[in-house]
Amino acid sequence: MTTYTTDVVVIGAGINGASCAYHLASRGLRVAVLEREAAPAMGSTGKSAAGVRVQFTTAANIRLSLHSLPVYREFAQRHDREIGYQDIGYLLLVPEERWERHLESVELQKRLGAPVEVLDPEEAQRYVDFDPTGLAGATYGPWDGVVDPHMATLAWVEMARELGTVFHMRTPVTAIAPDSPGWRVTSGDTRWSCGHVVNTAGAWSGEIGRLAGLNVPVGPKRIQIFLSGPVTDTRTYPLTIDLATGVYLRSEGDRVLFGLDNLAQDFGFTEGLDDDWLEHVLLTGVGRFPWWEEMGVDLKGSWWGYYGVSPDNSPIIGPHPDAQGWIDACGFSGHGIMHAPSTGVAVAELIADGATTTVDVEHFAHTRFGQDVPVEANIF
Ligand SMILES: Cc1cc2nc3c(=O)[nH]c(=O)nc-3n(C[C@H](O)[C@H](O)[C@H](O)COP(=O)(O)OP(=O)(O)OC[C@H]3O[C@@H](n4cnc5c(N)ncnc54)[C@H](O)[C@@H]3O)c2cc1C
Repeated sequence: MTTYTTDVVVIGAGINGASCAYHLASRGLRVAVLEREAAPAMGSTGKSAAGVRVQFTTAANIRLSLHSLPVYREFAQRHDREIGYQDIGYLLLVPEERWERHLESVELQKRLGAPVEVLDPEEAQRYVDFDPTGLAGATYGPWDGVVDPHMATLAWVEMARELGTVFHMRTPVTAIAPDSPGWRVTSGDTRWSCGHVVNTAGAWSGEIGRLAGLNVPVGPKRIQIFLSGPVTDTRTYPLTIDLATGVYLRSEGDRVLFGLDNLAQDFGFTEGLDDDWLEHVLLTGVGRFPWWEEMGVDLKGSWWGYYGVSPDNSPIIGPHPDAQGWIDACGFSGHGIMHAPSTGVAVAELIADGATTTVDVEHFAHTRFGQDVPVEANIF
């Protein structure tokens, strides 16, 4: 058995593991990242729709975005590395019954400093054509857009490596045991002895918790994304979500990427694309976007991946209540790309300083479950 000693072991080299590693190393800590795949970003990070937005309903999520989006917007200037940020915006199409509540969240977003535009359905058609039946209006976030999750992950991996972090690929964590103090993390015949474990194993974080005898209430849910054939409209569609049905789309080159969260989807590691679900998405979406009638589907370009989900679809970021030196940063549902900059900073501050100062993650603590805390409504 080969044994290494380090300050922190980060489990998982997705975008959150990479961000945590970089921010921890920036604080002078020795970090080892253990990843079972051959390269970073092979889990959910490589499967995402890449959207980033400030349009949330709870102050806690808006604040995570308010810290994260400028990091992405200014990444190239700050770090001299390209991460593919494009401010194509998010356009939310809002039905009448949800309009009043939606405007309250827009007020909150503006009060906290997020730029959001309120549009009537006619104005919103400058971005994408849709049938306005039943819609009261739309909101557009000009800071919102997309990043390239591979490029962002690899940027943080390189930056962490430059600060001395060691990334161990093809290194599945197989056992975790408490040490005194800290933890012993094992992969095959290699062991890391460390003061802190950071669990950024995405949809597999519950399994990592079980290896250590801890309840981390995060599990996998399959999400499917479909790609159209080429479309003739030359506009770049923002990430557009019809809040009446949940159908979403955005431009991907000369094609359209589209989908709909399957609320009836069982939790678990279900694999593959489901033809019946594709048909349901198309039949649902064509009502709002009649031009889908003419839109072909490129099944080979379509894909699926896992959300890691917690009981309230919001992340768990913070210490595990039953273990010293254990930090979870997982359960991000569809928000793990957009909130990775905040997550890395928060985890580094929790470990280096014992508390966060840059972003407040109190609302994402393990202990919130069963408490009367605001629940995010804009989960997509
Ligand atoms: C179809 C789809 C669309 C999405 N769209 C968006 C979007 O538009 N915007 C957004 O913000 N988010 C989106 N998401 C969510 C986003 O992709 C995730 O929240 C994010 O990638 C999570 O990153 P992570 O680093 O926490 O986890 P992951 O990227 O899943 O990384 C976890 C890593 O842990 C590794 N691992 C697991 N078990 C072990 C083990 N035993 N030992 C070692 N390593 C292990 C895995 O191999 C993996 O590399 C989407 C997700 C999907 C599936």
